[in-house]
Amino acid sequence: MKTKLSLLVIVAWALSITALPSVASASCSFADIHFSSDFDSGRLDGCEQTASNSYTLTLKPENTPINPSPWYAFQVTNQSETAQTITITLLSDGAPARYQPRISSDKQNWQPVPYEKDQQQMQFQVTVTDTVYVAGGEIIDTSFYPSWLAELAPTALITLGESSQGRPIHALEHRVDGSADWLVIIGRQHPPEVTGALALVHFSQLLFSDDTAMRVFRQRYNILLVPMVNPDGVAAGNWRHNANGVDLNRDWKRRSQAETQAVHAKLTAITAAGGRIRLALDFHSTWRDVFYTMTADYVTVSGEPLQQPQLVNDWLTALANELAMPIENKPSHNPNSGVFKQYIADQFGVHGVTYEVGDQTDREHIKRSAEAALTTLIKQLFPDY
Ligand SMILES: [Zn+2]
Repeated sequence: MKTKLSLLVIVAWALSITALPSVASASCSFADIHFSSDFDSGRLDGCEQTASNSYTLTLKPENTPINPSPWYAFQVTNQSETAQTITITLLSDGAPARYQPRISSDKQNWQPVPYEKDQQQMQFQVTVTDTVYVAGGEIIDTSFYPSWLAELAPTALITLGESSQGRPIHALEHRVDGSADWLVIIGRQHPPEVTGALALVHFSQLLFSDDTAMRVFRQRYNILLVPMVNPDGVAAGNWRHNANGVDLNRDWKRRSQAETQAVHAKLTAITAAGGRIRLALDFHSTWRDVFYTMTADYVTVSGEPLQQPQLVNDWLTALANELAMPIENKPSHNPNSGVFKQYIADQFGVHGVTYEVGDQTDREHIKRSAEAALTTLIKQLFPDY
């Protein structure tokens, strides 16, 4: 039994003409079991029943070429009277399975699901009594960010503009009278990078807390926090790109997209008004924990060394001491890469850092590391005082 999605796709497309922005959706119904990805950050591209309790689900990228990071997030509903244990096989369009499945009944509390995988497919079982969500990580959808930011610092909430599909790019702009110094934090350029998103949340949660050191820091430093640079990609459950199929973290040199343009406009407005960006952090996920940094002796495209050239090396050394474990610091530079950290260095003459969290990094460790990263960082950001 095979369910065609074409009709649903056409209906979704027709609706999207009058109801932008649209969210990618797919749903498939079988006798008792119903799959749906028709929600913010949902992603599922096809399904087939292969045996009485077995289903093969397919995932397709938004466009190619693309990094192999097949995101999935779908709801499974059991319409029968009794609980059913089903076997799900995920096929991700030739890309190797990557993200460990997690399950939740409320989209808030998630449990890892045991699985088997090879280069082509991933297989696992879930027991469904009523409705469960299955995803390649905790679902942090577009609706999370504005309410979370409003809780952190209600008076600092702004939008930087709109994505290409018209979604707001939410931000916090924390301003201090008498200080020109700015810390810049961005995240979610790549939608499925949930562990990086979690690290950004923990980092920012402490930064805007009542902790004494943080209050002192916030009296001396301006902060721009843009936690979701790619809201269209997050809404659609994209593997990597924005709604135009562009990798935003390769677009910072050209700035061809609404999202990079909106952030760039804000940063240049800050510096045009006399502000000094001192450091910018960009949160991501990859196969392991690693900090991609600029080389300390990098000379920018305008021929200047970076300000505080040892800032990041000193910070990561302090972080390794604080956590009592090695920290991987991978310096590099490539003026044509279009990567955010490189743009920060060339445009503003300061360090940019790509803060990468491993896909499977323990969630408690993500929190502990992010908080230690912040407490060690603010000590490095005060040398001029
Ligand atoms: Zn990334």
